[in-house]
Amino acid sequence: MIEERIKQTIRDIYDFPKPGIIFKDISTIFLDAALCKSIVKSFVDKIRHLEPDAIVGLESRGFLLGPSIAMELGIPFVLIRKEGKLPGKCIHETYDLEYGTATIEIQENALASGKKVIIHDDLLATGGTVLAASNLLHKLNIEVVGYAFIIELSALLGRAKLEENKTPVISLASYT
Ligand code: 5GP
Repeated sequence: MIEERIKQTIRDIYDFPKPGIIFKDISTIFLDAALCKSIVKSFVDKIRHLEPDAIVGLESRGFLLGPSIAMELGIPFVLIRKEGKLPGKCIHETYDLEYGTATIEIQENALASGKKVIIHDDLLATGGTVLAASNLLHKLNIEVVGYAFIIELSALLGRAKLEENKTPVISLASYT
């Protein structure tokens, strides 16, 4: 089962990026090409029926599998990046972090108004990052028809925030 394979492969790194945090390190997934292929296939099987026009990936770990998922579905991959990284005219969204704020951006002409997308990132924790991405896309009149994560930390209750407007949330491996 894909969930077991993911859980056997990723590592817990203690005190990263700061003391007291246990970080789920997904980099070991990319040492196993067969597992990568299975993860992409799982995502494709779970999201194809939502008929997205594009996959939107969040910097930076959403860029690792997002393009493969999009290619497998035969649709575009669009980048949301941290402030100041994308060339040309961008629109941005600022959101709260535990300490301070962060800003993310998308190129203004990345997607036409009215398109439907799936947002992809490696991990769902509180949902703050992905909600900001969703708000950013709404500014361009883009509809978010689903969220797709490799890992979900369910104790942090991100899913409930994302499902408020009935948008499906897909995660392949969940930790309580
Ligand atoms: P949230 O905004 O849902 O609280 O946090 C999710 C964001 O933080 C994602 O972009 C994710 O990449 C990153 N993140 C937070 N904790 C972890 C972790 O333990 N492992 C990984 N790989 N990413 C994390």
